[in-house]
Amino acid sequence: MSMKAAVVPELGAALTVTDVEIPSPGPGQVLVKNVSSGVCHTDLHAVKGDWPVKPTPPFIPGHEGVGRVEKVGEGVTNIKEGDLVGNAWLWSACGHCEFCRTGWETLCESQENGGYSVDGSFGQYMLVNATYAPVLPEGVDPYEVASILCAGVTVYKGLKETEVRPGQWVVISGLGGLGHLAVQYAKAMGMKVVGVDIAADKLELATRRGADLVVNAAEDDPVAFVQKKIGGAHGVLVTAVHPSAFTQAVGMSRRGGTIVFNGLPPGTSEVSIFDVVLGGLTIRGSIVGTRQDMVEAVQFYADGLIRPEITTRPLEEINEIFEEMENGKIDGRVVIKY
Ligand code: NAD
Ligand code: ZN
Ligand code: ZN
Repeated sequence: MSMKAAVVPELGAALTVTDVEIPSPGPGQVLVKNVSSGVCHTDLHAVKGDWPVKPTPPFIPGHEGVGRVEKVGEGVTNIKEGDLVGNAWLWSACGHCEFCRTGWETLCESQENGGYSVDGSFGQYMLVNATYAPVLPEGVDPYEVASILCAGVTVYKGLKETEVRPGQWVVISGLGGLGHLAVQYAKAMGMKVVGVDIAADKLELATRRGADLVVNAAEDDPVAFVQKKIGGAHGVLVTAVHPSAFTQAVGMSRRGGTIVFNGLPPGTSEVSIFDVVLGGLTIRGSIVGTRQDMVEAVQFYADGLIRPEITTRPLEEINEIFEEMENGKIDGRVVIKY
């Protein structure tokens, strides 16, 4: 039996939408018939081979897939046929290393990553690991909830890691797939929000979704803006895809503030050692979220607190979608509809 999938034939090449064998679930795995899959900028980094650790072609990207369980592998007890489940970047972890034992499974060095080290959700079917796959509540919109499975959980966890308290200010730098959700999670968590991007349509979307202030970094200096308006932010969450935003994040922070890096553009960013030391700043990386973060992030959505801005498209348009993403032409999230 075969299915349609978007396959990366080699790094940097266009994807091929082609027929491939439907995989069969091994022990602890389930086969999912996909309804939708979000397209994350990480998928584009994967296809281009942007990062030091590269995926091995041919592979199927996608880590925001949502679908119904069609077949259950040996030994699976927590998921049954017909359940609505997703895949995730944290496709599996070892379960017994120091990180797994202490609630930091996202740092497990033996983890598998959906659509990167194992095939992902850019196909009509996918395999997930029953122990790690998010199980979704019935009644949620399968297209909207796709965006929560990476973008949503990542910024929800990232915001927690800023340690910003209700009533304090957070800057969200980069208002794309991740950032437009970050604005909404931050508001739901009681924070005051400054949105920063280089595109006017992204700033408008952030304002519609509750940002208190916005600044266009292509027109104004966002550091001067944030310092003048609010005296620096208690926390800064960077989801932008340009290294310059990471340098600016330090400048937008208030003394004692915490800067969390979510975005993963290739390259390096300069920070002023003096500013970090004298300001008592914390700079912290944050990668997706644990299974518990996922449950919480999905619940915020299910409770009606998060409204993902999505556009559904067919899998055949995957190369056009990546081109639009590269050029910053996507508002919110594109979600593949199967
Ligand atoms: P996206 O393309 O939807 O959004 C990126 C946004 O950054 C766009 O709105 C763009 O206009 C904006 N931008 C570009 N240059 C900027 C600048 N100089 N200043 C401010 N904004 C700028 O991408 P996405 O899906 O939201 O992903 C964003 C990044 O986060 C990617 O690098 C992705 O790999 C990474 N990511 C990380 C994690 C994690 O766990 N840490 C999870 C998912 C995605
Ligand atoms: Zn992602
Ligand atoms: Zn582990």
